[in-house]
Amino acid sequence: MKPVTNLIRQKGVLVSDGAWGTILQQKGLQAGECPELWNIEHADDVVAIAKSYIDAGSDLIETNSFGGSVFKLEHYGLADRAHEINEAAAGLSRQAAGEKLVIASMGPTGKILMMGEITEEQLYEAFKTQAVALAEGGADALCIETMSAIDEAVCAIKAAKENTRLEIICTFTFEKTVDNTYRTMMGVSPAEMAQAVLDAGADILGSNCGNGIANMVEITRELHQAAPDTPILIHANAGMPEHVDGEVVFPETPEMMAHQTPMLREAGASIIGGCCGTTPGHIRAIRSVLE
Ligand SMILES: [Zn+2]
Repeated sequence: MKPVTNLIRQKGVLVSDGAWGTILQQKGLQAGECPELWNIEHADDVVAIAKSYIDAGSDLIETNSFGGSVFKLEHYGLADRAHEINEAAAGLSRQAAGEKLVIASMGPTGKILMMGEITEEQLYEAFKTQAVALAEGGADALCIETMSAIDEAVCAIKAAKENTRLEIICTFTFEKTVDNTYRTMMGVSPAEMAQAVLDAGADILGSNCGNGIANMVEITRELHQAAPDTPILIHANAGMPEHVDGEVVFPETPEMMAHQTPMLREAGASIIGGCCGTTPGHIRAIRSVLE
């Protein structure tokens, strides 16, 4: 079952959603509070976010489960509720999505295999728990995102593939280096990433976050060159956050993102949405420029 790939075949290009964390903060999420616990304690707010993206024209939406691994939840004493929290996350997006697709978010665990902080087996178990719960909650696909290390991403893909039947999207976050190339925090290039995640069995690859949509055009080109037959998902953030009068402000407006969208498309992106700082307004602008 590859619902996302099939929909790309039908429609050519898909629009996904924008930020979740940014909107949760606007709705009152406090620093130090677990965003994923909102799936249980503020379910109506989470459904409202999902619904706002569907109303803005998203063909697919994510879930409030980015930090839903046991290793992130344990910071809040919630590790033993990982299944419940992730299943709820998928269920809430499913409820809002109707006929649209739900791509369930799985972010990094914050543990680095190379440093020996955890074993590969512990990492696998963490991703397995999360992936199985998201599948049971009704997700159509998994979106393993914001990755920077190949070993962690490959472990997540393996855990997802071996324990669910969901389609798998995997995206990395790249930054521009001083010599004008793109690398993750762990030194991985887009071409290296593409090869590794395809070998591991991902169905769709891409990039998210980073520093604005203009850089994403170049990253998309590199990914597309490395994997010309694979659909590419791009979730740029709305630029680097700035502090203005004590508030965090993202500089890139819906109009600025919409302006770059045709270039992303030309570079090879077939699913376009946003990351940190993007809003339903950004998604509406991306949708209208693609129509
Ligand atoms: Zn982001």
